[in-house]
Amino acid sequence: MAVRRKTGRRPEELNLYRIVERQFENAARFVNLPRGLLDQIRVCNNVYFVQFPVKFGREYRMFFGWRAEHSHHAKPLKGGIRYSAMVDQDEIMALAALMTYKCAVVDVPFGGSKGGVCLRPRDYTEKQLEKITRRFTHELIRKGFIGPGENVPAPDYGTGEREMAWIADTYDAFHPGQLDNMACVTGKPVDQGGVEGRRAATGRGVVFGLREFFRHPRDVARAGLEGGLEGKRVSVQGLGNVGYHAASILAKEDGARIVAVGEWDGTVVDSDGIDVDRLARWRRRKKGVKGYPHGKVLERGTDCLEVECDILIPAALENQINLANARRIKARIVAEGANGPTTPDAEKILLERGIVVIPDIFLNAGGVTVSYFEWTKNLSHMRYGRLEKRLDEKKRENLVNAVESITGREFPGQIRRALTRGIGEEDIVNSGLEETMSKAYQHLSETLRRTRGVTDLRTAAFVLAIRRIGEAYRKRGIFP
Ligand code: NAD
Repeated sequence: MAVRRKTGRRPEELNLYRIVERQFENAARFVNLPRGLLDQIRVCNNVYFVQFPVKFGREYRMFFGWRAEHSHHAKPLKGGIRYSAMVDQDEIMALAALMTYKCAVVDVPFGGSKGGVCLRPRDYTEKQLEKITRRFTHELIRKGFIGPGENVPAPDYGTGEREMAWIADTYDAFHPGQLDNMACVTGKPVDQGGVEGRRAATGRGVVFGLREFFRHPRDVARAGLEGGLEGKRVSVQGLGNVGYHAASILAKEDGARIVAVGEWDGTVVDSDGIDVDRLARWRRRKKGVKGYPHGKVLERGTDCLEVECDILIPAALENQINLANARRIKARIVAEGANGPTTPDAEKILLERGIVVIPDIFLNAGGVTVSYFEWTKNLSHMRYGRLEKRLDEKKRENLVNAVESITGREFPGQIRRALTRGIGEEDIVNSGLEETMSKAYQHLSETLRRTRGVTDLRTAAFVLAIRRIGEAYRKRGIFP
């Protein structure tokens, strides 16, 4: 079996590793740090490459995978594990680097990591996937590439809650009696140590990020827009985890109009607004959007990138906005839900055309932010809100009773119930996510305004990240 340790097969414009290096170097020009320290921040500290056999019945099959650790300036390290036939070492290292910068931008105290196993999940049964996952976890344990204080994986492309539960169980089996074992991985099912709100977190984070952007009128004006999210026309690529939640929340809570949704087999357009839940149900049933009877269905999934809209949310794959289509993008804002959806050459064209790009390393950080909350929940061994929920309810009830007795009037039942409901885990998680995304955008916007020569949000995000990581190294020092 040929092992793809390095990329080499993608054109330079589409090589994520080169792209991240270019983005880093572009921003490093605006940061006053010694070259050696910049290099330490940029490089990937170590990569574990492993080949391992798995026995299915009488047959042995070899698999190979990676876990890259990009930066140890904060611990543990954090990043997903992806299952894909396309993974290679360069991609894993690039994604690990993006995790480092992402955590720094949203002030989540982790270093960046990423892992992957080269396989196509649909080629294997659930039992086989379980065996592969447990064996890969064992390899990570043997080399110290997983652990609550060392390295904490999460779901990524091709993996989900199910795989995370297998990883947690395997880790637990190898570390009997250790209290914090559940914190060795995040993105677990809620009844297996996961946290409420994790599933929607990245999409919700995209919305919180956009809301904060629209609270900065000067930034909004740079995009040639005004006002808030209400009535804004939105096009989304990908109705998966990130795209669905972002589109659904924008439509339901912010009054935005979803005018296009692109999937792998076509794009649904409707200038009156798409019912996202109805389309999502259709997509789940039919495995695509072709034949959807409401609005119009265009031939290609990429058509959603070129429709008339105010905000374009690429939330499917990398390199979707590239030299081939950058001049045809009609949105005023590109809000990156996916990782690396815009190539640097395409971004240059977008920026020249006055289109604002809200970068992935800020905008899709909701997932890792809520993973951080899951990790702290696991370490505290208690669900959020357990201690204070009833107290909160009591206080609310007292307040509502006081208002009723002073006014002599009663609240209608439904309003009373809403007012007296105590905060639960999901409320607390969403509040923490909103605080994180809002604060991060404020710092980003300030960095953009105050750093001479920086004119776009991605460079500002890298500048912010490099400064914060540099500061961490300066204060801690580097071990001799
Ligand atoms: P997902 O698999 O749930 O959804 C992806 C969607 O894109 C699917 O519905 C798929 O059918 C669709 N799609 C595939 N090919 C397409 C094409 N050519 N055109 C249009 N649509 C296509 O994945 P996800 O978790 O939503 O992740 C999407 C992106 O967001 C990825 O880049 C991922 O790395 C990034 N991301 C995800 C998270 C997370 O928490 N899930 C966090 C950060 C970043």
